[in-house]
Amino acid sequence: MTLDSQSLTNVTLFIDGEWSEGSTGRTLENRNPANHALIGHVAIADEVDLARAAQAATSAFEIWRRTPALERSEKLRAAAALLRERAEAISRAMTIEQGKPLAESRMEAELAAQIIDWFAEEGRRTYGRIVPSRRPGIQQNVIQVPVGPVASFAPWNFPLTQVARKISAALASGCSVIIKPPEEAPVCTSELARCFIDAGVPRGVVNVVYGVPSEISSYLIPHPAIKKISFTGSVSVGKQLASLAGLHMKRTTMELGGHAPVIVTASADLDAAAKSIVLAKYANCGQVCISPTRMLIDEAVYDAFTAAFLEQVKSIKVGDGLAPNTKMGPLNNERRLAAMRRLVADAHEHGATILAGGEPLDEAGFFFQPTVITDISRKSALLNEEPFGPIAILLPYRNLDEAIAESNRLPFGLAAYAFSDSAKDISRITAGVETGMLGINHTAIAYAETPFGGVKDSGYGSDGGLEALRGYLQPELVTIATH
Ligand code: NAD
Repeated sequence: MTLDSQSLTNVTLFIDGEWSEGSTGRTLENRNPANHALIGHVAIADEVDLARAAQAATSAFEIWRRTPALERSEKLRAAAALLRERAEAISRAMTIEQGKPLAESRMEAELAAQIIDWFAEEGRRTYGRIVPSRRPGIQQNVIQVPVGPVASFAPWNFPLTQVARKISAALASGCSVIIKPPEEAPVCTSELARCFIDAGVPRGVVNVVYGVPSEISSYLIPHPAIKKISFTGSVSVGKQLASLAGLHMKRTTMELGGHAPVIVTASADLDAAAKSIVLAKYANCGQVCISPTRMLIDEAVYDAFTAAFLEQVKSIKVGDGLAPNTKMGPLNNERRLAAMRRLVADAHEHGATILAGGEPLDEAGFFFQPTVITDISRKSALLNEEPFGPIAILLPYRNLDEAIAESNRLPFGLAAYAFSDSAKDISRITAGVETGMLGINHTAIAYAETPFGGVKDSGYGSDGGLEALRGYLQPELVTIATH
């Protein structure tokens, strides 16, 4: 399947079962980050459109919550099957508008389909329980009820998997959803939403709105129809949205930023560790909330690890994501390119040594070299702020306590990694590092069936596994006198 030119150039809203321009006719531009070429336009929702979406989600919730779990599951599985059928066209659209290499887009499309399938299955098992009563003739049942219409905000770094997680967890639990996919990757996310619609999900159960993020969140979060907020994005925006949600007593799932530490002990297989870390670090041009960022290396093996790391970095071919040999595409947007320049300049001022990269590429597009930095002061912005780009920091440590303390120094706690062959060291790292997810001797930590979320400023709640479904369900006690 290929996308018709209408789908590529003109992304519209989907409200109450109909695709439409926004009521004001205003649009945003969608541009290719590899060459700035105009791809098309995206409709902007205003309050009139959002009010219609809230109304549609409310009416549809009454139908969807009563739809048997098996039927809901079948519709979700049909959506996953459609996504697999359309994966090539959707992956190409993602590379053109988001920037990542086509191989990564294809992998993401398959992961998104797996996520939908998994929630489809797990939604059939949202069991309640019977609590033994204190008195004869009383039955105490705990049932799981869907919380209601959800407003979800998904970011541009993994447009398919993030939107798939949010729509399918909501739908599998019996909730309706208004999703705001990223304006920076609107075609692929709109086509993903179309898979749910074409799979026969009733009108109003999935509503898709684009526009000015702050206008959409400030309207939907306080809206009485909306019962839950799910957000993935930066810590600063997450805190604003969580405060607003708190003011209106709305439950939230917040998946925010990170600054993942990686502890490499002297016993680690250094070549295997370097290979695994480099692959994870520069995937999606480093625009990954669980990207390995602070590599903390036992000083005894620091030189050997650094050499192995730099050897791997040398082999990364940067270019347009559609070119066959590209291993790393451009950054997604101007904001990230400006951030890379600022972070490297600030690192320089703080005495850092740049071992590789450090510059934009001399081309149209938001390209930045794979960068490796060392000798950097704790006062630098890079050692305190999530880089969200292709910058790795290598730092030696003297003993494991020092490495664990550095891991926990920042307010983030999303992902952490360790490479070690010592059971004792692994056990100390597991007990000591404050994190939502810990990968030991590998970096593949994000699957449909496993919890995905953080601690500290990285947020709360989960976007994966059984824990994600629980966020869309409310336990209700029903106690019955049977005599
Ligand atoms: P940003 O803080 O402006 O936006 C981050 C995300 O939040 C975007 O998807 C944006 O559309 C959305 N957003 C922004 N303001 C909003 C609002 N008031 N209401 C609702 N949604 C809103 O930053 P950015 O330049 O788009 O992205 C860069 C930063 O965002 C990175 O440094 C990174 O920390 C974070 N980020 C994190 C993730 C993640 O997976 N946790 C994903 C994307 C971006």
